[in-house]
Amino acid sequence: MITIETGRLAPEPNDKLSIELKRFAFEHYGNCTKCGYQFKELEVSHWGFDSIGHPMYVCEDCAPYLAEPVWRECFMAHSYIL
Ligand SMILES: [Zn+2]
Repeated sequence: MITIETGRLAPEPNDKLSIELKRFAFEHYGNCTKCGYQFKELEVSHWGFDSIGHPMYVCEDCAPYLAEPVWRECFMAHSYIL
């Protein structure tokens, strides 16, 4: 079970896709999965899916590539709990 504490998830996602997305984001936590950018404290990160349904976890610059944005959060180092 993976819980990611973000402070501001709206709404709290708990369907199958969102669980998949959480798992994906956990694996890639801290880096944009599109350009590899390393998030700095309190920068906004975007979570969602691309046009073929693959999970994406991206920076502000790459956010337009999201076909299906799910949520945003302020990046905080060590804000996750395994
Ligand atoms: Zn990026």
